[in-house]
Amino acid sequence: MGTISLSRKISIKLQEQVRQRANFLCEYCHTNERWQYVRFTIDHLIPTSEGGEDNFENLCLACFHCNRRRSTKTKVIDKESGQTVPLFNPRLHQWSEHFIWSNDGLYIIPLTDIGRITVETLDLNRARILNIRQADVIVERHPPAGDPVHIFNDT
Ligand SMILES: [Zn+2]
Repeated sequence: MGTISLSRKISIKLQEQVRQRANFLCEYCHTNERWQYVRFTIDHLIPTSEGGEDNFENLCLACFHCNRRRSTKTKVIDKESGQTVPLFNPRLHQWSEHFIWSNDGLYIIPLTDIGRITVETLDLNRARILNIRQADVIVERHPPAGDPVHIFNDT
């Protein structure tokens, strides 16, 4: 949980650059910071305790819940296969290659092992966030512009 206090060391300018690069979305669950009561946190991808630095390439924008759930983890042992699978890393991976929105915009559906382990570990479809997404769908500000959405083929 060092990220929050350490983020004070990161200059305001750098924090703003991280926000803009992320288009103000949590880089994991794609919740938009603009519609939240609290600002998101600046997360270290490689934790500072493991030598990660306060530089642009090691930082990402994360909502409080994704930050807390990820903690300092960068990989997880997959219970299904016993293999170690990396968690989604927004600097190394493209969101749209690993995740897609369900047709109703409520659920993040994983497309890959990295996506699946990240949905599970960060609980990207937690109940509280489903309510937020539902409300945002109604006012047409969710899913975020440019995100892939699964289209049903009901023929
Ligand atoms: Zn999040």
